[in-house]
Amino acid sequence: MAKSKKDKLKTAIFLGAGASAAEGAPIQTNLFKDYFNLIRTRSRYATPEHERELATFFALMFDINVDNGNLDNALFPTFEEALGVLDLADLKNESFKDFTNINFESNSGRIKFLRLYLVYLMADIIDNSLRTSKNIHRKLIRKLKSNGDLANTIFLTTNYDILCDNAILDLYPNDKVDYGVDFVNFREGTFERPDLGSIKLLKLHGSLNWLYCPTCNNLRITPYEKGVYTLMVNPSSSYCQKCQTVYSPIIVPPTFYKDLSKVFLSQVWNRAENELSEVDHLIFCGYSFPDADIHIKYLIKRIQKNRRNPQSLKITVINNHKGKKTEIKNEEKLRFQRFLGHNVNYTDFGFEEFASDPKIVM
Ligand SMILES: [Zn+2]
Repeated sequence: MAKSKKDKLKTAIFLGAGASAAEGAPIQTNLFKDYFNLIRTRSRYATPEHERELATFFALMFDINVDNGNLDNALFPTFEEALGVLDLADLKNESFKDFTNINFESNSGRIKFLRLYLVYLMADIIDNSLRTSKNIHRKLIRKLKSNGDLANTIFLTTNYDILCDNAILDLYPNDKVDYGVDFVNFREGTFERPDLGSIKLLKLHGSLNWLYCPTCNNLRITPYEKGVYTLMVNPSSSYCQKCQTVYSPIIVPPTFYKDLSKVFLSQVWNRAENELSEVDHLIFCGYSFPDADIHIKYLIKRIQKNRRNPQSLKITVINNHKGKKTEIKNEEKLRFQRFLGHNVNYTDFGFEEFASDPKIVM
């Protein structure tokens, strides 16, 4: 008897930062360096307010002169570290000497502004670095489709960019995308409501094409566009049409989940757990299983052990790239195995190889 669609193995592809880096996105450790190098090349009449404030932040908090210093030698914090200290201060309602939380002074609340500016900075550098990508995500989607595997594959990602989103929408405009959340667009008809056959793309840390209206408490998707980037370059076009409130981004760093209380991201995480619990094969692409991602680890542990047969979940890791050191690989392999067991298949494949022929592991 021929295998019906129902009998096909369900696969989840987890896209980490390495998958976007393979397309040209800056890696975590270079994000700030790349950004400040980029803005030095922009000739403008005046420095925008958010850039001036960011320069002050890096000068006072990390002793880096982003205007005149040597950026190549500068030791920048990671995006998560910079956002993390601001988020924790905000959460605890504490201040830094030069950056206050809200008080009676008129220029207070710089911590909240800086958080927004860091998110814009990230949107800006991602937009710039991915204007020409290597189309690896497209290659992967196309191959999965021609192999007949796309319908049985769900995508999960910790990336904010919209590489996977656009690859699906561009190649298969008739296949709806299910992000696991409701958008106001469904009612307007500007983005189709998903159904059972939709391709699932669960973005665990938020997305650059999601805009949140804190007044209406709803979410808008800006298909094909990084709406968060538009917020920065053209704020006047980024008002909620219903209540005129300026939209906010939903971008959450892995360490601190205060925003997870927001109903939308909780929905995504809940959906991810439900979908993953039925998956037979989990493939990590460009994800190094960092210590900071305890929420991801918790999620993966749950879906591994809370199933009828915990041994039934096959786990594959695709995280090699040219020039990757053996010590790094060994350390990483150990990190996956100590948490998920010795059956983890830690391969020597890179994201591009996998995208060209997903059958090598599927
Ligand atoms: Zn609104």
